[in-house]
Amino acid sequence: MAKKTEIGMCMNIISTYQEAEKRAQTIRVAEVLESISDAFFLLDRNWRFTYLNKQAVILLYKKKDDLLNRSIWDEFPEALDSVFYEKYQKVIEQKTAQHFEEYFTPLNTWYEVHAYPAEEGIAVYFTNVNHRKKTEQKLKESEEQYRTLFETMPQGVIYYDSKGKIKEMNPAAEKILGRNILEIKSDAFKSEMKPTLNENMLPFPDSYDPIDIALTTCERIQNITMGIYNPKDKNYRWVVLSAIPQIKLGGDGPYQVYATLEDITNERKARNELFLTQNQLKSSEKNFRNLAETIPQLVWISDSTGEVQYFNKRWYDFTKVDESTISMKNWWEQLHPDDRQRAVEYWENSVETGQQYEIEYRIRNGETDEYCWFLARALPIASERGKITKWFGTCTNIDDHKKIIENEKFLSDASKILSSSLDFNTTLQKTADVAVSHIADWCSVDLKNGKHIDLVAVSHKDPEKINWARELRKNNPPRLDEDKGLAKVLKTGEIEYYPYISDELLEASAKDEEELRILREIGFYSVIIVPLQIQNKTIGAITLVSTESKRKFSNHDVLTAEELAKRASLAIQNSQLYEKAQLRESQFKALYNSNVIGVIYCDLNGKIYEANNAFLQMVGYSKKDLEKGLLDWNKITPPDYKEADENALSELMSLGYANTWEKEYIKSDGSQVPVIVGAAMLNKESTETIAFVLDITERRKLEQRKDEFIGIASHELKTPLTSIKGYTQILERIIHQMSDERAKIYLKKTNTYIDRLNSLIADLLDVSKIQAGKLQMNFSEFSVDDLVDDGIESIQHINSQHEISKTGVASERVLGDKHRLEQVFTNLLSNAIKYSPDANKIEVHISKNDSMITVSIKDYGVGIAEENLHKLFERFYRVEETAKTFSGLGIGLYISSEIVRRHGGDIWVESEHGNGSTFYFTLPIAKGN
Ligand code: ADP
Repeated sequence: MAKKTEIGMCMNIISTYQEAEKRAQTIRVAEVLESISDAFFLLDRNWRFTYLNKQAVILLYKKKDDLLNRSIWDEFPEALDSVFYEKYQKVIEQKTAQHFEEYFTPLNTWYEVHAYPAEEGIAVYFTNVNHRKKTEQKLKESEEQYRTLFETMPQGVIYYDSKGKIKEMNPAAEKILGRNILEIKSDAFKSEMKPTLNENMLPFPDSYDPIDIALTTCERIQNITMGIYNPKDKNYRWVVLSAIPQIKLGGDGPYQVYATLEDITNERKARNELFLTQNQLKSSEKNFRNLAETIPQLVWISDSTGEVQYFNKRWYDFTKVDESTISMKNWWEQLHPDDRQRAVEYWENSVETGQQYEIEYRIRNGETDEYCWFLARALPIASERGKITKWFGTCTNIDDHKKIIENEKFLSDASKILSSSLDFNTTLQKTADVAVSHIADWCSVDLKNGKHIDLVAVSHKDPEKINWARELRKNNPPRLDEDKGLAKVLKTGEIEYYPYISDELLEASAKDEEELRILREIGFYSVIIVPLQIQNKTIGAITLVSTESKRKFSNHDVLTAEELAKRASLAIQNSQLYEKAQLRESQFKALYNSNVIGVIYCDLNGKIYEANNAFLQMVGYSKKDLEKGLLDWNKITPPDYKEADENALSELMSLGYANTWEKEYIKSDGSQVPVIVGAAMLNKESTETIAFVLDITERRKLEQRKDEFIGIASHELKTPLTSIKGYTQILERIIHQMSDERAKIYLKKTNTYIDRLNSLIADLLDVSKIQAGKLQMNFSEFSVDDLVDDGIESIQHINSQHEISKTGVASERVLGDKHRLEQVFTNLLSNAIKYSPDANKIEVHISKNDSMITVSIKDYGVGIAEENLHKLFERFYRVEETAKTFSGLGIGLYISSEIVRRHGGDIWVESEHGNGSTFYFTLPIAKGN
């Protein structure tokens, strides 16, 4: 769009090179302003916004102009009744800083806010903490889930401290113990209490108390049957107790013991009744077996030596073992290899001691080949004389229950780990370790890294195997372009789930013999790969593999893995955000404390009341001088720069900020330092202002050398050129006598080029003169109409493509340097022709008012984009796009603007990209006309 560029705005523009630097500095200054915090704004005492940085505008979802100078309560009326109002009010009234987090419903956003009292109002720094809040919410939910489970579990759960004292327990445990936590801590039933009994109904000797054992050995204690006296029932409750000592990294022994108690009082009673029944039935085999066939458990019966004599049908159905081939001695072959020895040892011990047998182990499901958890119990059946004649054993399927509990526990453990640190590499490794201790034999976490897949964590209970896996991975890195497994998950963001991996499947997926060998070596049994996603973008995946445990991952495991991936993704996202925030903070601090940029706070009267070291060093003052009030903007500004300061000041007052300007300061030793300054008003009413100051001594020196070089070079070029011109004149005369037509043509061409060279050098000399303030003007009175007519005639004479028309007349005289103003007009006319190669007309128009004559030159050429208009009259500036097609130095408009300005006139352009340009210049009418 059309735009008027006033010559006055060009006053501070000294050179293109300077500008390039200046632009870079402006960006740096802006960066500091914008990086002071994530978002901040300033309010005056009437609650009006006086300053907002870019981030504040983004976080408040409004336009800057819609907020500036408006009251915050008018713009956000919903906040009037809120914590925001209450806290800001406090800042004003009590002059204290306030820090709070609050949800703002209309913007559906959680903000973390720091509000500080400012001299004339309040400064507010804030960030959007939706992500953190969501994480906290999720963690809270996960904690609640765990709590609910804890509260409602039918099993008793007790946490003991490192001294074996009860810290916490759930309602089921309270019921078993017959005491609540307060009663336990205050020893309420001390006088009534009776000792805890072991399986043989004898008190546990102290050193054998299962909790003590867990604490001293750090070993898990499993399935200990014990009787605990319940003072409310006034009787013993029988429980099966397991205890897991919990250890902290770097800790010294367990910091607590987690114990579960299953109440078996009723079963024990039933068993005793059954025991009696059996006696009464005198072990009638038939009835006994009938009973065994009807109960829903797997049942077996052995003789007194422990040799199994009978399995019920359910047992055969489950194991798919052929009844005719089974060796009763080898029943344990149906157990999971890891459980066999333990089961056999327990059994032999029971047979030997005649004590009840109770153990959890995994039995192979003959149909699916999967191992399922069972709770196995066996009761000795005694003859009338008390001699054990048989054993009656049951196996109850507890697989689902156990896995669900285990998965919940796993998720809860994983959540704790994921929220424990913001270093996600460590966290992910720990998460993989937890997965291995709970649900998988292998767990690995991979993250996408460009075209690669980085293995960031891998876990297995055997460290040797981890090394082997890492090595394997190094030698056979997966590729993102594969269409299976991990690569597929990373590509599609969808879960891959292989409940059972047969050898055929391995054969089908291996690309060669070697890969097949490796796959077989790993022994894949069941696999789940879940994607890690941040904002619907897949960033990696978690792989869970079951191998030697032969755990066949269930749908419930897939859900658990999915939930784990969600929580891990959130943790990764959080740590990334945290890292970013840390980085920004340190960047800001580095800038603020850097020796590069001076930062000062001052008022509009020039009183500087705060300055960083960079500024003090620049002007050679100390902190003490500052405290004594010796630093005053006006006092350290030399008279030559007062005008530039005043321009900046008026800009500051009208816009709230001042574009960068160059000036000098008087240092404490009396010398001067050149600087570039940018300023912004922090508070309009108090006129508190922040300014950023950059020392440009080195740049100034460089520019001076450059200017000197241009001056010398153009002088040195001009002298030989004058001689060449002289010799061509002599040649002209000689050739004229020779009447050689070809030589005449060549000489004419030579002259044209010499003229062009001459004018280029003359322009460069002008630039150098302007820089040195030595551009001479010879003033006289002349007619503007004549100047325009002569200019058109001379240009039209050498250009036939464009027809130059003229409208309007001045009929006025001006006082000026005619030669220089001709230079301006012909320069604008030549540009109009040069930059409209496809057009054929130029329109010149003259108009006037009481005091000024305006000349405009309109072309129908390439035009100028709006963003380039304001730089057009700068030294050496050329529009990048057109510079490729048209040659030039970018100084014509600079010289023209300088000449017009020296005449007290103005020069500007109106243009649109692709739609031609109109250049205008004005000259004051000579007085006395
Ligand atoms: P030069 O023409 O030698 O590059 P000038 O100082 O005369 O230098 O012009 C500066 C720049 O302004 C040019 O490079 C060109 O990009 C742009 N310009 C000047 N006049 C016109 C015009 N009439 N139409 C389009 N662009 C123009």
